[in-house]
Amino acid sequence: MCMMCSVTYATVGAGLLAFSPSTPGVTTAPSPQTLASQVTSLQRLPSTIAAFKMPTLIEPQWLKDQNAAELAAAQAKKVASTSRVVTYDVMTKGMLTASFADFRTQANATLNDGRGWSRMGVTFQEVQSGGSFTLVLSEASQVTSFSSGCGSEYSCRVGRYVIINQDRWQGATPSWNNAGGSLRDYRHMVVNHETGHWLGHGHASCSGAGQPAQVMQQQSIDLQGCAFNAWPTAGELWSSQLGITR
Ligand SMILES: [Zn+2]
Repeated sequence: MCMMCSVTYATVGAGLLAFSPSTPGVTTAPSPQTLASQVTSLQRLPSTIAAFKMPTLIEPQWLKDQNAAELAAAQAKKVASTSRVVTYDVMTKGMLTASFADFRTQANATLNDGRGWSRMGVTFQEVQSGGSFTLVLSEASQVTSFSSGCGSEYSCRVGRYVIINQDRWQGATPSWNNAGGSLRDYRHMVVNHETGHWLGHGHASCSGAGQPAQVMQQQSIDLQGCAFNAWPTAGELWSSQLGITR
């Protein structure tokens, strides 16, 4: 409904009514004074229209709620269509002293943590077999069995194998511990770092004293003046393996 129109019609109607005979059925000519007054009243119409203020439209709460729900549904659909599921399987190598169940649970939590690689729009899903990569918890002395390029001291990545050294999983490293890093954060860091290699990353260096280390820096060996950081930085959120550019 047009509020301005209804006001205008009402005003015009009032003006027209002024021309109506005062007694139904009896035709009398209006006096010149009456006519003059009616003309004056009609001449004021433009200013009446100009003075009219459009009412402020108030959105009712139910409409706000409905719009918010529709927006949330559209955003969820968009996220679902852009997120990618990356599968991985798990295995052990050598003699285990750590809990493999805890390893699987914590590694999955790290991979899907909102601070980690999942920020690229990726969900990591553990599968029984045939994953895109294999996450390994390995006895320290067995890490070298994957490649002569790996040492028994640290974790490693060889092809599809993302290998976490059990000694590091259970005790981090002196440099990390001396810097006051927690074991849980070390576990986040080592899973993110080795998975980062599989995603296509090489090593990074400390960008400046006191800066958070990039997760691809070899923080297990030396923080180089950086602050320890278990998570990929914004600049590291890309993957040649998955075809995700910065
Ligand atoms: Zn590395």
